[in-house]
Amino acid sequence: MVDLDTSLKSLLGQRTATLLAEGLELQVVGDLLAHLPRRYHERGELTDLADLVAGDTVTVQARVEKAERRPMRGSRRSMLLVTVTDGTHPLALTFFNQSWRERDLRPGTTALFAGKVDEYRGRRQLTNPEVQLLESEGDSDATGPLFANALVPIYPAAAKVPSWTLARCVSLVLDSLGPLEDPLPEDLRRRHRLSTLAEAYRLVHQPTDRGQVASGRRRLTWDEALVLQVALARRRREVEALATTARNARPDGLLAAFDAALPFPLTAGQREVGATIAGEIGRPVPMHRLLQGEVGSGKTVVALRAMLIVVDAGGQAVLLAPTETLAAQHCRSLREMLGDLACDGELGADERATRVTLVTGSMGARARREALAVIAEGSAGLIVGTHALLHDEVVFADLGLIIVDEQHRFGVEQRDALRARGRRPPHLLVMTATPIPRTVAMTVFGDLEVSELTELPSGRSPVATFVVPAAMRSWADRMWGRIRDEVATGRQAYVVCPRIGGDGADDETGTVADEAEGRAGRPAATVTDVLPQLVDGELAGLRVESLHGRLPAAQREATMNRFAQGQIDVLVATTVIEVGVNVPNATVMVVLDADRFGVSQLHQLRGRVGRGTAPGWCLLHTAADQGTPAWDRLGAVAATNDGAELARLDLAQRHEGDVLGAAQSGGRRSLKLLALLRDEKLIREARVEATRLVDADPGLERHPALRRLLDAALDDASAAFLEKG
Ligand code: ADP
Ligand code: MG
Repeated sequence: MVDLDTSLKSLLGQRTATLLAEGLELQVVGDLLAHLPRRYHERGELTDLADLVAGDTVTVQARVEKAERRPMRGSRRSMLLVTVTDGTHPLALTFFNQSWRERDLRPGTTALFAGKVDEYRGRRQLTNPEVQLLESEGDSDATGPLFANALVPIYPAAAKVPSWTLARCVSLVLDSLGPLEDPLPEDLRRRHRLSTLAEAYRLVHQPTDRGQVASGRRRLTWDEALVLQVALARRRREVEALATTARNARPDGLLAAFDAALPFPLTAGQREVGATIAGEIGRPVPMHRLLQGEVGSGKTVVALRAMLIVVDAGGQAVLLAPTETLAAQHCRSLREMLGDLACDGELGADERATRVTLVTGSMGARARREALAVIAEGSAGLIVGTHALLHDEVVFADLGLIIVDEQHRFGVEQRDALRARGRRPPHLLVMTATPIPRTVAMTVFGDLEVSELTELPSGRSPVATFVVPAAMRSWADRMWGRIRDEVATGRQAYVVCPRIGGDGADDETGTVADEAEGRAGRPAATVTDVLPQLVDGELAGLRVESLHGRLPAAQREATMNRFAQGQIDVLVATTVIEVGVNVPNATVMVVLDADRFGVSQLHQLRGRVGRGTAPGWCLLHTAADQGTPAWDRLGAVAATNDGAELARLDLAQRHEGDVLGAAQSGGRRSLKLLALLRDEKLIREARVEATRLVDADPGLERHPALRRLLDAALDDASAAFLEKG
């Protein structure tokens, strides 16, 4: 009986099986059936030949216009020159030593041609392409006419395996396929009107119309979505089954003292999220929550209040930041917010006081040893660090809560590693200002519960954003004038460059800047070039300094400190200031070569200004021309302050692989069909079904086929399936 695990060799023979295995890594029936057509040609509808790109391997449907045989100089052999057309554009085909083809390729014949596009004397051509006649009467194939349907599937092909060979193999396989065990339970299929697996394969491989393609693909997309959601639902269950220590605030404790001294009222959102968190860490089950909040919505206070509860209950809390700059700033601002409450061990300190300790990779050995000691003996209640903290042999006295700040790419595995740090699994809160489209939250963060902070503290004025075209000199002058004006009234400014410059040509962000480099043909602005230019020119007389990732950590921290204290007017920086940096007195940001940054990244960047009560300005300087996609992206950023909307735009424009990371590039069973934007509804439905399934049958005992699909997915990409780090 032929099923998905049957080897292709036993069905198709050694020769073909070897071609499929070597060219496309297809070994068994399931592999071949999962190798889906990339698109479908309407039978007889000619492929647009205008946009063939040299170097691409293509399959085109075209009509023969003329064919002529030419002798080859100095040889008795000949070559056949054929011109095919899509009705408008010609394409040249050159066959060497295949004069017999002249019989087949008569003017007017339509056929599929496959090969690699090359260029010869400025004309695009295919040399010795593979040919499949569509209208040939004497189709010698035993299975009958290969493409009987109106739609001709075009497969991602390999050099020696043209698309129609794949179609023929699939056809053989489908004809001998026995009944398949279906991973989707029947009642689920009925509820969502999904075809069986076997039927879905027929629909996508041999459709008679586009509707069939769509319903076949929908069914197969469901498989992917459900497997992913089942995996996540099982993770949620596993976490819920863990036992940890419940942490509750004392009525006369640190949190109470902190709240009493807070200089501003909490926003409604901060109060609500705070209550949710307090409720969860007060239970003996580890909290596992994502806090999403617009830039400037005040997540740090929420985090600190949660940390204080844990300290009140006798435990320790860790706050992790993605960069040393940010960790140092967090440490500074926690100490500032706590005031006397952070001065344990000092003379005259509040008796409830605790200590805030910073641990970073670049601190001196002695300071580090001291920090580790106070962490181990427990007198440091609040610990701030970078992720380096995870990899070290840091020993905690009693770790109760881990907060991860600004890490929207913090994958499941890293979360697991964290959880292993405490004696009992600590509570976990992940915070991000990068708005995550809902579907991403349901996939990448699908094992976390989600809270949102949507409002900004009152009294904030939104950041006004403008695009400044480099071509307009006077605009650029006004841009620098704006910085001088703000500084004159005691405010501060950022100038952001895509690159550091100097000897290393690196860009520390690894963002679109790198890619854009080649295309734009003009190197992006660098901190090392811009700084002296501004000092001697547009910003002469102001206190201008630079900040970037290649400076020693101590120097970076000192610069950040002096900027925070108002001793520097203008900071020329890379995206090291992208996340979390909080200097409310900074009111203007100029972003040079702004088109080199992604949409969400720009939104993050401008979140650095307008953090106080004075209005903020963000000026996006660009050499991009009006009407180009780059210009339009900047226009979109200028037009809205809604981070969620920009995140959607970002997702639509980037490869989803960037978002899903390894899951996309993983093995054959990873996400191939699921598209996070398009399939929002499907993902949501799959999540509901998965939860229901796993609640009723956690081990999937009653769903062996689904269980197998899940296991395959999990070890296929060895958990990279879930790991988006
Ligand atoms: P983010 O959510 O981007 O991390 P922060 O936590 O850094 O934002 O907060 C931004 C600024 O807003 C800080 O200066 C903080 O002190 C201030 N802030 C936070 N909550 C409030 C509030 N309820 N009212 C007024 N200011 C607040
Ligand atoms: Mg923050």
